[in-house]
Amino acid sequence: MKFNPADKIQDLQYFGEFGGVNPSISDSSTYTFLSAKTMFDTFEGNADGCYLYSRHSSPSNLYLGQALAAMEGTETANVAATGMGAITAAIMQLCKSGDHIVSSRTIYGGTYAFLKNFAPGFGINTSFVDITNLNEIEASITNQSKVLYCETVSNPLLEVADLAALSKIAKKHNLTLIVDNTFSPLSISPAQMGADVVIHSLTKFINGSSDTMGGVACGTQGFIDSLRSVNDGANMLLGASMDSLRAASILKNMRTLHIRVKQHSKNAQYLAEKFENDGIRTVYPGLKSHASHDLFKSMFNEEYGFGGMLTIDAGSLEKANELMEMMQDKNLGYLAVSLGFYKTLFSAPGSSTSSEIPEEEQKEMGLTEGLIRFSIGLDNDIVRTYQEMKNCMKAVGIL
Ligand code: PLP
Repeated sequence: MKFNPADKIQDLQYFGEFGGVNPSISDSSTYTFLSAKTMFDTFEGNADGCYLYSRHSSPSNLYLGQALAAMEGTETANVAATGMGAITAAIMQLCKSGDHIVSSRTIYGGTYAFLKNFAPGFGINTSFVDITNLNEIEASITNQSKVLYCETVSNPLLEVADLAALSKIAKKHNLTLIVDNTFSPLSISPAQMGADVVIHSLTKFINGSSDTMGGVACGTQGFIDSLRSVNDGANMLLGASMDSLRAASILKNMRTLHIRVKQHSKNAQYLAEKFENDGIRTVYPGLKSHASHDLFKSMFNEEYGFGGMLTIDAGSLEKANELMEMMQDKNLGYLAVSLGFYKTLFSAPGSSTSSEIPEEEQKEMGLTEGLIRFSIGLDNDIVRTYQEMKNCMKAVGIL
């Protein structure tokens, strides 16, 4: 039977301490032991099922991790305080001084800044490549390479990574393939195509309420144990641990993720087709004109669609800003970074979420200054939204 990530989440059964339909929240930072010997064994990593301290793990965090691992089809998962907390810990766990990373050049600006500006201070250097060019990727691999890093659907250009081909390259050269799947939860299941570690910023679609930060790394039991090791685990020692109350609320929101993703995708597909028909330069993986439309189709879990992210080019930063301010004025969405909210969010990545990328590199990768990134909301009447957006586009003169 075909892997269906939403069914995997729903197949889990939890009860609270008193038979509650939600698991009880572990409202403690530390845990008692019945014997000093068990405490010692737990620190040695030999007391399965015992909790020692919530920076290491907590029952609520393990429940959320279990649901995320089920969704991605990995052995297990470790939740973190933010998406960056999950990304940086996974990379620092796998790479030591002298090691090398091959990364897609179109990735979230924070990840790019970490790899470009921060990691070199620890002797870890990165070659940035066009993730759609497999020859360039293979040519960039050195004897020191340890990690191949990409986003399934890249932020903000919406380039699509050929995960099966990347996994083949990673295996051939003994690299760990890390895939950030933040833009395409449920739609694409990277571990099913050979990704070794699947990352999400839970801050976005998975939580869906724009009320908390969160991150996760999904992978093998061995890798996740290594992240949590009290002796040399990056999550345990760098300390980006999630709070239990937040883990409980994100788990509850995950139960509606499949319904939300379908609606985000349906609305984004509708708007992308309309904008393109109107002659606006529109990028959306669900459009036939998208360079990787067929690739996305060959990888996706069809019922969840092509996701909620699209971009348009307003021609200049001035026009982009004017349009976004007017759309906010008309209550069509918010001029805000981030994604996955019930309301449409829009921003100009060149001057916001990707501003860490130097201007000439932005140009080289095709990130124009008039680019607007939309995270399309859950609008009940997307036809009305489209009409009103079109009026705004006419008013600012891009239509
Ligand atoms: N990955 C992607 C694709 C993102 O867009 C972001 C944030 O915008 C992150 C990771 C970082 O996540 P967080 O903001 O939760 O640290």
